[in-house]
Amino acid sequence: MTVGKLKKESKDFYNPNPNATVQDENQLLKNSLNYLKAELNKFKELPLLVSEVKKIVNGKVIIKVPNGSHFLVNIAGDIKVNTGDTVLVEQRSLTVVQKLEDSKSFDVEDFVIIEKPNISWNDVGGLEEQIKEIKEVVELPLLKPELFKQVGIDAPKGILLHGPPGTGKTMLAKAVATSSNSTFIEFVGSELVQKFIGEGAKLVRDLFRLARERAPSIIFIDELDAIAAERVDMGTSGEREVQRTFMQLLTEMDGFNSLDGVKIIAATNRFDILDPAVIRPGRFDRLIQVPLPDEKTRLGIFKIHSGRMNVSNVNFDKLIEDTEGFSGADIKSLCTEAGYFAIRNNRSHILHEDFVNAISKLDELDSEEDSNCAGMFG
Ligand code: ATP
Repeated sequence: MTVGKLKKESKDFYNPNPNATVQDENQLLKNSLNYLKAELNKFKELPLLVSEVKKIVNGKVIIKVPNGSHFLVNIAGDIKVNTGDTVLVEQRSLTVVQKLEDSKSFDVEDFVIIEKPNISWNDVGGLEEQIKEIKEVVELPLLKPELFKQVGIDAPKGILLHGPPGTGKTMLAKAVATSSNSTFIEFVGSELVQKFIGEGAKLVRDLFRLARERAPSIIFIDELDAIAAERVDMGTSGEREVQRTFMQLLTEMDGFNSLDGVKIIAATNRFDILDPAVIRPGRFDRLIQVPLPDEKTRLGIFKIHSGRMNVSNVNFDKLIEDTEGFSGADIKSLCTEAGYFAIRNNRSHILHEDFVNAISKLDELDSEEDSNCAGMFG
């Protein structure tokens, strides 16, 4: 920096008012000095560590610092802390100097979907057996817990819906939340694994706390296999982290009373890889298979998704024959696609041929996807 530039900058910074008295100027200089000193001190201050209180032991606390180590430390002054609180600790002695009022490093409510769904049983095509069972083991205990007390039996805490993608597992879970007037709290297993490295177990704990606060409620865990797959190799820290999250899930499930207004519904497409610990009694001990729809169910699904469409002369019996192996989600896209064919032909009503064209298009897309996958893997 040149001397000229320095002079100019200091002039810009210190630009006294020509009418000011010497006292005014003196005060101005003092204020600037105090401000600069305070700013300088900020740079000198040692940062405080954000830690979690794990346990309280005779007036001291065991804290977990960010690298995962645990220490038994003192608490400054009369700060009151509880297990699970997030606190600031001084770096050298690790003394707790402040409790963070919003005591969680993240708020579980920001990471799960909480809703009062409006999907009703009538929106679900077919699946009568599955609906009957879910009503018995989820809806009834939430609506009439006293019945179970009188009879002296425990309803299952959790049910596991398993079957191929797009077969209506999420819909079933939402429909029972609607019919039992419960809060629906959803989180996706794979997201938990990707987003919450080091925080998964805490998220699970907070999730169950939230569910109890919002009871009656249903916790819906989609893609359970992402956290509850049987693990053979626990070599990586990522695997160990997933295992910790999984163990916390089991602990929470074991810990809560089946009648306290919270039910857990999990869903998976990969039942074959689940750790058997997850389906032990008292956990997800009611298994409900949701298979690809049979003819009767396909008809039900067609009726629901074409219900609001302006269809004319559509032979649904024929469509059902031609959609063997389609999931409910496929049938929904088929109806939308048929609508597009009608629009492309400047018609406001949908004919049978639109559905036929839509089936061919979806088949084409499927085979394109298959050949892309084959290209990628071999
Ligand atoms: P995934 O395993 O991929 O999460 P899923 O089994 O949870 O899938 P849903 O998300 O419930 O499937 O279904 C996807 C969509 O497919 C639904 O929004 C609905 O439109 C349609 N669908 C699936 N099954 C049915 C059904 N039985 N009746 C009516 N619609 C259905």
